Amino acid sequence: MSIAVYPGSFDPVTFGHLDIIERASRFTDRLIVGVLNNSAKTPLFTVEERIRMIEECISGLKNVEVRSFSGLTVNFARQEKADFMIRGLRAVTDFEYELQLSQTNRKLAEDVDTVFLTTNLKYAYLSSSIVKEVASYGGDISEFVPDTVAREIMKKYEGKLRG
Ligand code: ADP
Repeated sequence: MSIAVYPGSFDPVTFGHLDIIERASRFTDRLIVGVLNNSAKTPLFTVEERIRMIEECISGLKNVEVRSFSGLTVNFARQEKADFMIRGLRAVTDFEYELQLSQTNRKLAEDVDTVFLTTNLKYAYLSSSIVKEVASYGGDISEFVPDTVAREIMKKYEGKLRG
């Protein structure tokens, strides 16, 4: 049985992430989405909120689970007995960083490989930060995230819209 982890911040999950989750779930028996609990960053959503939002969006995918993790991603992958990690690639800018990250991870843990999925062109421009930026100015984010997620984001910005 093959097991993969898909780590990230998912603050919040977007259609780009969901596309990667859906496609990855087709070529591994179990996919564990790892939501990073990073005390150095101040996310818009708590880990619990991020997990709940992803779970609501992937309820149709029976072989996908969502868990939180902190610390090194390779340790999380080992703990989950994963055969490989999944990362998404959007543009050349992602590539340099992701290459460096995957090579560092290989140094730290030779047994954990990284598999890259290129983004669906429809979502190539999409990132959680862009979604938050647009939402903070009261812009329409319905093409970027599912309705349930859009509602949660708008709630966070209620009463404190910028610009
Ligand atoms: P990070 O892990 O850098 O905090 P994210 O949580 O935003 O970033 O993303 C997790 C993973 O999903 C990364 O591999 C990232 O490249 C990928 N990803 C993010 N947005 C998209 C998108 N629109 N299309 C494909 N992959 C994406």
